[in-house]
Amino acid sequence: MKINLWGVRGSIPTTGPGTGFYGGQTSCTMVSEDSTMLVLDAGSGVQRFNEIDTSAYKRIDVLLTHLHMDHIQGLGFFKPFFVPDLQVHIWGPASSARDLRTRLSRYLSPPLFPVLLRDLPCKLILHEVGNSEFQIGPFKIKSEYVIHPGPTLGYRINGKKSVFTYIPDHEPALGRNGMIRDAKWISGYNLANGADILYHDGQYTLEEYLAKKGWGHSCYNDVLQFATATQIKHLLIAHHDPSHSDTQLGDMFAAAQNNHTYPFTYELAKEGNALELP
Ligand SMILES: [Zn+2]
Ligand SMILES: [Zn+2]
Repeated sequence: MKINLWGVRGSIPTTGPGTGFYGGQTSCTMVSEDSTMLVLDAGSGVQRFNEIDTSAYKRIDVLLTHLHMDHIQGLGFFKPFFVPDLQVHIWGPASSARDLRTRLSRYLSPPLFPVLLRDLPCKLILHEVGNSEFQIGPFKIKSEYVIHPGPTLGYRINGKKSVFTYIPDHEPALGRNGMIRDAKWISGYNLANGADILYHDGQYTLEEYLAKKGWGHSCYNDVLQFATATQIKHLLIAHHDPSHSDTQLGDMFAAAQNNHTYPFTYELAKEGNALELP
């Protein structure tokens, strides 16, 4: 299983000299194995997809965690949409309010975007999922709702031999005293439990988090606690706050390392990085 990080920034694209190391593009990760390609979220980082030769692919699958702009803003510029008859499957969270097509059309229609969803030349197939299990090529995928404003999913992707869990926007520490003691009741537990790699929200410092509780994101302390409770093997801390420069991110990471050792390895997600699992 190959994992390519194309966008690891939270909230809004933040490119510039101060963010060049960790990167400023918003959420997008590609996961591939054999000839199956999954695109996780379509933030501004999805532009990298346009550099790939997709002529050998019969279908492309895009798995959206939720429909906040930083996770869908690249969709209008997603090249496979404009390839006649290419099957493009979009998987996204079911909502009791409106169906996925109606919600996506709010962005993919004038005046926000000139092309209507129904006029795209590709063969677009939408799938609404909740607490679901489904298969795409070699991948067995579990989706589950997690704590974040609006219907939001995390994904657990089982490859042939390894597991990658993707929860870019998540605030699991909403128990009375932070993280709930009984691990299996923590939001996202089933998705992350024992994963080889966990990609998880770590937007804030503890000080910032205390001023932004309930906004749907995590601080480093909480993501490290979540990773400990779920016994994962390697953690990618992601959804970097747009106000954090490379220097600040480095300082935050150094502070986290100083305090504790953990039963897993961890690093800050960095745009352009590639990881490989057996
Ligand atoms: Zn986000
Ligand atoms: Zn969000």
